Amino acid sequence: MTSRYEAVIGLEVHTQLTTSTKIFCGCSTAFGAPPNSHTCPVCLGLPGALPVLNRTVVEYAIRAGLATRCTIAPRSIFARKNYFYPDLPKGYQISQFELPICTGGHMEIETTAGGRKTIGITRIHMEEDAGKLIHPGEGSRFSHVDLNRAGTPLLEIVSEPDMRSSDEAVAYLRKLHQTVVYLGICDGNLEEGSFRCDANVSVRLRGAEKLGTRAELKNINSFRFVKQAIEYEIERQIDLIESGGAVVQETRLFDSASGVTRSMRGKEEAHDYRYFPDPDLVPVIVSEEWIQSVRGTLPELPDAKIERFASDLGLSRQDAEVLAADRALADYFEACAAAHNNPKGCANWVMGEVIRVLNESGQTIASCPLPPENLAGMVKRIDDGTISGKIAKTVFLEMWKSGKKADRIIEEKGLRQVTDSGAIEKVVDEIIAANPEQAAQYRSGKEKVFGFFVGQVMKASKGKANPQAVNDILKQKLAQD
Ligand code: ADP
Ligand code: MG
Ligand code: ZN
Repeated sequence: MTSRYEAVIGLEVHTQLTTSTKIFCGCSTAFGAPPNSHTCPVCLGLPGALPVLNRTVVEYAIRAGLATRCTIAPRSIFARKNYFYPDLPKGYQISQFELPICTGGHMEIETTAGGRKTIGITRIHMEEDAGKLIHPGEGSRFSHVDLNRAGTPLLEIVSEPDMRSSDEAVAYLRKLHQTVVYLGICDGNLEEGSFRCDANVSVRLRGAEKLGTRAELKNINSFRFVKQAIEYEIERQIDLIESGGAVVQETRLFDSASGVTRSMRGKEEAHDYRYFPDPDLVPVIVSEEWIQSVRGTLPELPDAKIERFASDLGLSRQDAEVLAADRALADYFEACAAAHNNPKGCANWVMGEVIRVLNESGQTIASCPLPPENLAGMVKRIDDGTISGKIAKTVFLEMWKSGKKADRIIEEKGLRQVTDSGAIEKVVDEIIAANPEQAAQYRSGKEKVFGFFVGQVMKASKGKANPQAVNDILKQKLAQD
């Protein structure tokens, strides 16, 4: 049924900026403080208080704009968006409307089919966040308002309606999330609402030019929910049209508990907000020099990093993508590969054991107790044959727990691999002598028994025998009779 229809999706993303103070006053933006403790006359909206723009907010907006190939406006304007809400004490939100700071950008995403696709970015503008309403519910006659968040700087990043599936929408959202975190302008914390998304969804008959009527799904703060909400909404709209109805333009809420979207209110039009330029704020002037100096501070972005890991360090594209997905992880890997020139070996340990143990212990790479140089020191000992890959797992966990370096652990625990063929031969002879039945089986063509011998020899050598040497010597000894 879905094949007759095509979905059209455009996303509006609100990213909370990591400035230490609010956008128009000096109040702290720290999360989790006692209610209303981070407030002043400006963010409380008291009469006569005047906003003063935080320069870092503009710089962060320029960063986001450059990273998404936008044009940065030499002159942009703050506007008042008028509406009443109890957590918006001024009765208007300061935002940008006709002249936003960034326009006309784009970002590339990977599609599930394996191709690449360009998603247009319509605009990026700066605005202030509102406060928070707290409804204690059952048993309370009151609702509470916490204005700590009022005046926190946001960037709203608006995409073109270029996405055609929930997967594309999630790919775009992940890429954007990765980008703002890489840029250091947003902490990316979805649970705390630092990165949240409104998804605009419509459907049309395949081949139709005109866009269908859209519903806007408000404030979704997880990648999984975005996917669920969009998929539900596409089906809902198709069913509606198929049964002779029409989609109405409205704002809907996604209920993650039941997995459905529900109508919240009819969609307001821009003119309902009576936007007008804020007379309290002068135009934002951005010079070419400023843009260039911000450009100079941009970090290497994920795409460029993936490219470099693949072409310069010889990693597979897939490995490069895993490592570049998180800037801190990529830095960790690079520090490791810089200390021991075997990028592939280092990458395997970072993507394998490091991530596994971090996940198990609920830690992140930022708090990883194992310095990358120590990991490199261990990979070096695998590469020069001092320890086997199997023994390395023991060394790894010991390094993790004790903070000691690999060399010290190898010496203290006597984990050095036995490569001396004389010593291995001796063990092999003993094992063959002790298992004449299995030896006979092997010689009569039951090759599976070989594994049994390898196991026995490794066990007898406490895992320290060089596996390749064990294989060679066993083959040779079992062949002679
Ligand atoms: P508003 O504030 O009214 O939601 P914006 O211009 O800020 O308007 O955002 C509109 C968003 O909706 C953009 O992301 C745009 O790509 C998307 N959009 C517009 N028309 C459609 C449509 N017919 N179907 C899906 N998405 C749409
Ligand atoms: Mg909108
Ligand atoms: Zn304040």
